[in-house]
Amino acid sequence: MDHLSLSPGGTQSLGQRSRNAVWHPCTRLRPDDDALPLAIVRGEGPWLFDADGRRYFDATSSWWVNLFGHANPRINAALAAQLETLEHVMLAGCTHAPAVELAERLSALSAGALGNVFYASDGASAVEIALKMSFHYWRNTGLPAKREFVCLRNGYHGETVGALAVTDVEIFRDAYDPLIRRAHVVMSPDARQAVRGESAADVAARALAELEALLRERAGQIAALIVEPLVQGAAGMAMHDPSYLDGARALCDRYRIHLIADEIAVGCGRTGTFFAWEQSRGEASAETPLPAHAWPDFLCLSKGISGGYLPLSLVLSRPEIQRAFVADELARSFLHSHSYTGNPLACRAALATLDLFEQDNVIEQNRERARWLSDAMAPLAADPRLQHVRQRGLVWAADVRDDVAGAEFSSRFHHAARARELLVRPIGNTLYVLPPYVFDAAQAHWLGQQLLATLDDVTTSAEVRHAA
Ligand SMILES: *Cc1c(COP(=O)(O)O)cnc(C)c1O
Repeated sequence: MDHLSLSPGGTQSLGQRSRNAVWHPCTRLRPDDDALPLAIVRGEGPWLFDADGRRYFDATSSWWVNLFGHANPRINAALAAQLETLEHVMLAGCTHAPAVELAERLSALSAGALGNVFYASDGASAVEIALKMSFHYWRNTGLPAKREFVCLRNGYHGETVGALAVTDVEIFRDAYDPLIRRAHVVMSPDARQAVRGESAADVAARALAELEALLRERAGQIAALIVEPLVQGAAGMAMHDPSYLDGARALCDRYRIHLIADEIAVGCGRTGTFFAWEQSRGEASAETPLPAHAWPDFLCLSKGISGGYLPLSLVLSRPEIQRAFVADELARSFLHSHSYTGNPLACRAALATLDLFEQDNVIEQNRERARWLSDAMAPLAADPRLQHVRQRGLVWAADVRDDVAGAEFSSRFHHAARARELLVRPIGNTLYVLPPYVFDAAQAHWLGQQLLATLDDVTTSAEVRHAA
């Protein structure tokens, strides 16, 4: 294998040492598998470099976290300055400027509809916080029976035991099922389910009808609905019509349950607006701010918020949520914390990220990038080996047809792409790219070409394409 060789000094490669000493996430430990992790020594812009100096285009933004490239000089400078002043202080009883400024600026991005921020470190923790806060809100307001949750089919909200309860991805959940208080799972608005003649909006309407049927029965026991707005990432970049979001908001109001928007993957400009939820009333309304009542009750951010630099997550919520926790009794307080809650370095990286959005007019620029991506992917979109080609902002995805994908498609595609300077990890048969916001039109074109060439490498029936 490529990195297995021992160097003259007898020292093992980084990949070999890693396989011995590091238990890698989301990775099978197979008895006869001698594949090693790719040892990355350096990053610059959208590129990652291995120990041999080979480069790889980070087409999925290092698990969807990187927004402005690796070793971004402006984020680096902000972090270096923060390092000189304050690296960390506990946020219970203390505060610091980066945590305050970040909360104020995020609240302002929702025009004040979401009034405050609760900090944590990982996405899954943010989801747990939103679930716990929702349950606790209802208990504090005299409705303790509301303690069930609703999630969407194939939804993904993280892998801690609480977050798995609202995650409907079998490979992550089923082994731990005995530990989990499962949520109600309702139909996803995933537009791929359209039957002949049905539009994406029709599918969304069907999904809303199923949600309403559940709420009509059980709203008295339900605390909250949790959704990934616009794109269900881990489901395989499943996309839906925005009308689902506004419809879900209306149902949550009618049946008095909370709405939790998990924007851990789709927030921070990924789908064309800073918050994906801004599109809940359709594309046209992205320009005009949403009225306060049209926002979710809770909105979770993580991944891109720190620019992909440091673990940071947070939950924005409506001001009335916090009001239900104002009381002298300890039992009414939200006594949740993580050691690194509101870490100043992570908050500073997030502020530098927000500065980049403002100074470089990133939301506007990303519209053009989305067009470059769409143009570059046109040959793939026309390829008969692919179906359900879809794009929302800077997420592009397509499903490789089962008959041409073959066994272990994802792993074979990943390795073949690496040989073409491309780092991608398909989800099952879903091929997707979710690049950092730093590529130009030429790089988009190159990316499209490499994906097509890789598809030729790994599918045996290239003749299908030419025959069509
Ligand atoms: C990644 C992700 C999470 C979990 O975040 P972690 O930081 O990995 O715990 C939750 N929800 C969504 C939608 C995600 O994409």
